[in-house]
Amino acid sequence: MNLRKLHELSFDNTYKRLPEDFYDPVSPAGFQNPHLVAFNLDAMELLDLDPNEALTPEFVEYFSGRKPLPGSEPLAMYYTGHQFGVYNPDIGDGRAILLGEVRNRKGEKWDLHLKGSGRTRYSRVFDGRAVLRSTIREYLCSEAMYALGIPTTRALCIIGSDEKVERESTERGAMMLRMSPSHVRFGSFEAFHYTGREDSLKILADYTISEYFPEIKEGEKKYRDFLYEVVDRTAVLAALWQALGFTHGVMNTDNMSVLGLTIDYGPFGFMEEYDPGYTPNHSDHFGRYSFENQSGIAFWNLGKFANSLVSIVPSEEAMQAVGEFKNTYSQYYFERMREKLGLKTSQKNDGELIKRLLQIMQDEKADYTNTFRALSDLSTGDENINIFKSEAFREWAHLYRTRLKDEHSADNERKIYMETVNPKFVLRNSLAEKAIRKAVDEHDYSEIERLHNILRNPYSEQPEYDEYSKFSPEGTKNLVISCSS
Ligand code: AMP
Ligand code: MG
Repeated sequence: MNLRKLHELSFDNTYKRLPEDFYDPVSPAGFQNPHLVAFNLDAMELLDLDPNEALTPEFVEYFSGRKPLPGSEPLAMYYTGHQFGVYNPDIGDGRAILLGEVRNRKGEKWDLHLKGSGRTRYSRVFDGRAVLRSTIREYLCSEAMYALGIPTTRALCIIGSDEKVERESTERGAMMLRMSPSHVRFGSFEAFHYTGREDSLKILADYTISEYFPEIKEGEKKYRDFLYEVVDRTAVLAALWQALGFTHGVMNTDNMSVLGLTIDYGPFGFMEEYDPGYTPNHSDHFGRYSFENQSGIAFWNLGKFANSLVSIVPSEEAMQAVGEFKNTYSQYYFERMREKLGLKTSQKNDGELIKRLLQIMQDEKADYTNTFRALSDLSTGDENINIFKSEAFREWAHLYRTRLKDEHSADNERKIYMETVNPKFVLRNSLAEKAIRKAVDEHDYSEIERLHNILRNPYSEQPEYDEYSKFSPEGTKNLVISCSS
């Protein structure tokens, strides 16, 4: 297959063809002295890009906003949203720009979205920039999530600079090229609903359905079917996060993709010590976006989304659609949790079995990821081999073994299976921190690449990287992250 050069990318800028009130055309504000920090061959492949292109000076020029990429038509997307439960009419792409949409040879379309690319009409009082630290977190986490099988945006590259960006302290600015089939959010619909622009809202719905939900048939039920689909995807996504032990951290409606993708990686966190109240966002004082609240918040957000469709989906039907969330969520969540326990069948006490295990993990302050990985070694034969010493665990393990024997589970087969669903490697905050410190303090980007490579294969043993699967050092578990980024 002929790979493409950067100037040969095939753009199909569908969003740009929407009416003017959907966006603001704006060019990125380029950095002085930009340089390549990281690039991702997997994402380049999605664009049919020749991997050698990453090493050309043009690559840095294009993705630091200094030179317009041929075929791109940069714009800032308009949206609003509920932030921490309060409607904010004034959001939009304040520091990211949709350069354009690239269609690959398979016909897949990818938004090229440059984050940290300068001020736009929607920047309010902010600088339009992103700091290196936050781009590294997003780059690594979105690729880790992809490898873990979670629907997510992707990351093509990080470009660094010596441009000073003021946060709690002075930091260096960076840009990250994010890729996604679409950046349409719940808040894109809210924006038109709350400003009474029903025509625009309908155009957005028609556009979103025809571009991204081709399976939805034309007809009077089309918008209702669309809502059902968004409810379904959101429920699946929330269930996947939960089973993985992932907390998004800022589930505002402007950070909710209508495609059911994980988007906008800010103060997220992978659970280490199991604690349902874990809230990674330093500014989230009341734990609104805690681990245990995520499904409730996803439901709440869907309520706001459904409400914004009131001019095209009657309220009663919309409420019914949103009402599907709880069933879909719990069905999917328990399915995943059964898989994590290596259970092949579904039995009525499985919910209780899972709940009791989580309670033990909480009491033991056990590492979420490693506990499930370790469970794959539990044999049905020897009752004396256990992960925790407590009586509660001994009792639980007895129930679990009985349950396994009941479905004639073979230890070796189950272990192999469980290791394909319980990752060994996740992006622990301490790991991200290490890569960040090296990059920021020493201008050494090798740890980003190393970590990315480990996280690309989260289920494989990679014994040489055992250290990367360990509980973070005391004091850095379940880290809380500043939302300044
Ligand atoms: P976030 O919490 O990152 O999803 O951001 C919420 C809103 O604030 C979005 O509209 C962003 O574009 C905007 N925003 C966040 N940081 C900045 C910044 N440094 N400059 C301009 N806009 C920003
Ligand atoms: Mg956002």
